[in-house]
This record gives sequence, C-alpha cells and structure tokens, in this order.
Amino acid sequence: MAEVLIHKATYDYQQLKPAVFSMLDKLAGNKIKSGLRVLIKPNLLSFAEPQNAILTHPLIIKAAAEYVLEKGARPQVSDSPAIGSFARILKTNRIDEALAGLDVVCSAFKNTLLTDIGPPYGKIEIAQDAVEADVIINLPKLKTHTQMLLTLAVKNMFGCIVGFKKSQWHMRAGTDTDAFARLLIAIHQAVKPTVSILDGVLALEGEGPGRGGKPRHIGIIMGSDDSFALDMAVCQLLGIGYKSTPILKNALELGILPACEVKGSLPQVPNFQFPPSSGLIWGPRFLHNFMRRHTMALPFCNYSLCEMCSQCWDLCPAKAIEPLAEKIKFDYKKCIRCYCCIEICPYGALHAQETIGGKITRKLMEKFS
Ligand code: SF4
Ligand code: SF4
Repeated sequence: MAEVLIHKATYDYQQLKPAVFSMLDKLAGNKIKSGLRVLIKPNLLSFAEPQNAILTHPLIIKAAAEYVLEKGARPQVSDSPAIGSFARILKTNRIDEALAGLDVVCSAFKNTLLTDIGPPYGKIEIAQDAVEADVIINLPKLKTHTQMLLTLAVKNMFGCIVGFKKSQWHMRAGTDTDAFARLLIAIHQAVKPTVSILDGVLALEGEGPGRGGKPRHIGIIMGSDDSFALDMAVCQLLGIGYKSTPILKNALELGILPACEVKGSLPQVPNFQFPPSSGLIWGPRFLHNFMRRHTMALPFCNYSLCEMCSQCWDLCPAKAIEPLAEKIKFDYKKCIRCYCCIEICPYGALHAQETIGGKITRKLMEKFS
C-alpha cells in the first residue's frame, strides 16, 4: 500500500523545514546515506519569480538540500528548462539566494545516456545525471497543464529529457494525448524518483503550467515514495476523478496504479480552475484522431501582450507559428496542440481557447451522460 503524507505548510522556513525533513525521513530516510549522489529535481520550467507559482519554491529546494547534506550525502539540483538560461532561472526564482553557503551543485542537465524505456520507444536519450543518481528527490509543483490537465509528480520527470528533445517527443506523439501520457509514464518508470514532495503551498490554477495560470493558495505539501499515489491524492484534493488526467487514466490501463492510503487530513479545495478541455474523445477508435483535431482547444495570441520575443516560434515542434512583420500567425493545420508555446511565453500572451467543435461536443456529452 503506497502512503501519501500531507502537511499544512507555508513558505516560512522555520515551519517549512521541519515539515520537509519529517517527510523525507519517513519516506526515504533509510535510502539517503553518506556519500551518495542525490539528485534534487524541482520544476524549473522557465524563468519566473516564486510568487508566480510556476516553479518549485526555492525554500522547498533548500530544505531538501539541507536534509541531504545533514545525511552526509552529495546534493545536486538540476533540471532542463524548456527554453532560456538555467542561471537566469536560479536568479529569478531566488534559488541562488536560498542555496547560498550550502555545498550544493546546481547545473542544467546536459549530457545524456541512451536508456531503454521499453516498447514502443526503445532506447532514448535521458539526462545522465538522472540515470546515474543514487537517489532522486522529485520536487514537483501543483499546477494545471493545458494538455495533461495537471502537472504533478509523474510529469515532472519529463524534465530529464534534455532541451529541445522535449519538443521532438511532443511532435512524435502529435495530437494523441494518450500516446504522450504513455511516453511520460515510460520516462518516469525509467528514472523512478526515490521520493516526491509536492509544493502545493502556492499552486497554479487556470491555464497552467506557465504565465497563463493564476496562483492559488492551498497551503500544503504532500509526499510519497510512489508518484502515481501522490498524483491520485492530488486529484482527490482538487475534487476530480483521477481518470480525468491522461497520465493516471493510462497508468490505470497499464495496470501500474498502486492502492494508496492518505495519511493526514486531506482538505477539499473548492472550485479549483482547470484549463479548457484537452480533448473530448469518445465513440469508435477510428474517429479519435478526427475528434482530437476538431475538439481540442487551440492556441491564441493576445497581441497586446506579445513582445515578438521569438520564444514560441523557436520552440514550436510543429513549426506552426510564423512571425509576420508585427504579429505571429498560427497554422492550425500543422499545430499538434502540445501547448508548449503557451507554457513558455514569458509575457503570458498565449492562451488556449476551446473550438466550436469542442463546445458542441461538450454540450452533447453533458446532455447524454
Ligand atoms: S506570443 Fe509570447 S513567446 Fe510568442 S513571440 Fe509573443 S511574447 Fe514571445
Ligand atoms: S503552435 Fe503551440 S500548441 Fe501548436 S504545435 Fe506549436 S507549440 Fe504546440
């Protein structure tokens, strides 16, 4: 039985540190030993400040690093941001400041190792530091995600795919959300974190996981040595069935969801705002691709916020964004609805908008369900 621990928490370090220490002690205390290399893997998607609730809070990273140091092990804080400089992320999210004076290595993932993640993918390139770590402490942020509904413990390990390779994997899955969810599961299973502590103190609701989302205070941290159990407990916290998330739905179909028990009182978070549906798929399988194309929300630009910074068209795996003289233009025939552009837009200029086909399908589904 997988256990999920819950603590009320704030970003007051005097309170936060004992809560993180107690969770790590219970869940991984006997695994973090003197001399071992411990990878601390936060969510460091792109540069943002702690109050934006886009990245794992620096004080949670600090508490994990201090715990590892107290155990005599060697902490390394790493991730591979979607775009932009790692040094800028450390500075803007005040991780530099939080870790000042601590003997911690901070570096972006760079080298990769070909790692077998099983069929149909076979050997793929995964960050060497993740594959070779003795222990992994996964520190996801509680955030919504336009494609996956939520990004939590399982999804956070996608950061072990280095740089632009992430976009290539998005492209391979295309508009098939289930295929992408299964890839995320396979990567997670190949680089299985020893323990996950989720930052749910200041979460992100609405159109996450980037600047389109809105910070929402929840005031908890949650931990487990089983990422799937942790993600299921978060769904319970937010009042949704776990099968609404593509990752947990596919994990269920693959037969890898654990039985789980929540230790501690799980508050209810009323009216948590989710992004527009990532796809309303029903009916015979041969119609699924057609339905995805016509019901999945599309990226749109609020031109008054766009600074023509180039990040979206540089990153778009489908090359579906074209810079014109003064504004960007989407080619929706090419767009695979990965929402990477929305995720990384540093000015919050992009958002997902439900299509007419999506609205009609939703109404029909509500009527006949
Ligand atoms: S939409 Fe955002 S990412 Fe794209 S060019 Fe404009 S500001 Fe940059
Ligand atoms: S336009 Fe945006 S959502 Fe569409 S494929 Fe490109 S990055 Fe993905």
